[in-house]
Amino acid sequence: MARVYNFSAGPAVLPEEVLKEAAEEMLDYKGTGMSVMEMSHRSKDYETIIKEAEADLRELMNIPDNYKVLFLQGGAHQQFAMVPMNLMKNKVADYIVTGQWAKRAFAEASLFGKANKIATSEDETFSYIPDCSDLPISEDADYVYICENNTIYGTKFKTLPNTKGKVLVSDMSSCILSEPVDVTKYGIIYAGVQKNIGPAGVVIVIIREDLITEDVLPGTPTMLRYKTHADNDSLYNTPPAYGIYICGKVFKWLKKMGGLEVMKERNEKKAKVLYDFLDESKLFKGTVRKEDRSLMNVPFVTGSDELDAKFIKESKAAGFENLKGHRSVGGMRASIYNAMPIEGVEKLVEFMKKFEEENA
Ligand SMILES: *Cc1c(COP(=O)(O)O)cnc(C)c1O
Repeated sequence: MARVYNFSAGPAVLPEEVLKEAAEEMLDYKGTGMSVMEMSHRSKDYETIIKEAEADLRELMNIPDNYKVLFLQGGAHQQFAMVPMNLMKNKVADYIVTGQWAKRAFAEASLFGKANKIATSEDETFSYIPDCSDLPISEDADYVYICENNTIYGTKFKTLPNTKGKVLVSDMSSCILSEPVDVTKYGIIYAGVQKNIGPAGVVIVIIREDLITEDVLPGTPTMLRYKTHADNDSLYNTPPAYGIYICGKVFKWLKKMGGLEVMKERNEKKAKVLYDFLDESKLFKGTVRKEDRSLMNVPFVTGSDELDAKFIKESKAAGFENLKGHRSVGGMRASIYNAMPIEGVEKLVEFMKKFEEENA
């Protein structure tokens, strides 16, 4: 068996330890004689799995008691709709558009009310984060929306926008658990887990309790109301049970690693290896304004489409998978989530050095 270094943006690399444990428990979960996949979501054993997953996530992120943690389905895309359907009481919301995902969320919100694009970095292919210290926040805005880490473009908000007292909603799909965050600064944090946590099929929503109300847009389906899931501890209907179980294992792995302070240090060290090389390389270049660089997604180019294609082909042959940039931007992108070991990045840089020499 040979595992590759998987730089996929998502679904993405998982900790090997977690995969091995899951494999060991595949046929007989802790003496139950069945796989977690075969287990009733109403059973005692499953109740323990989902409760522990929530408790561990709360501990890792230091989530206050007045926030609910929900494990839902439908991916980040479903949140693009659920957020306005549940929060747009005045039918007004302000969006900061820093990439494709924020753009989609903005377009979706426009189906339900007046979505205002109050800042964007589209003028420079989303290669930076706009200054958000004094934006024209709408007086009657129900919330201000950001995509905190832009998976495709490799930018990250290092300071949160000044929302002038409005509720902040953040799509953290590709940066959740990469470093500590102050949950109290947000009304809603959500994340599709297939980037930095677990297998596709689960989206985690962390929502302040006062935002969970019956006062939702008319016609909002039962399944798309936060209240439905909050009132039933994410067990209103059958949850993505196996996915949540794997997420729970990843939370335990993160706790064992030392928690989010330690992950932050590791991630900074890991990203630095690649960014330092990009800064000194004569062939490869990072595409993002330095101060806005993501720790999780690192896009880069050679400046020649031909050399980019050659690099992607040769890197794949050398055991580095999924380095091709998003189809909308081209070039390369290395996603270096929590589960990517530093050796993976060091070996990638070695390979890039060699490629640079050979193609000088
Ligand atoms: C991947 C991604 C999405 C889309 O996620 P789906 O689960 O496919 O809907 C949205 N936002 C961000 C930041 C992402 O990285």
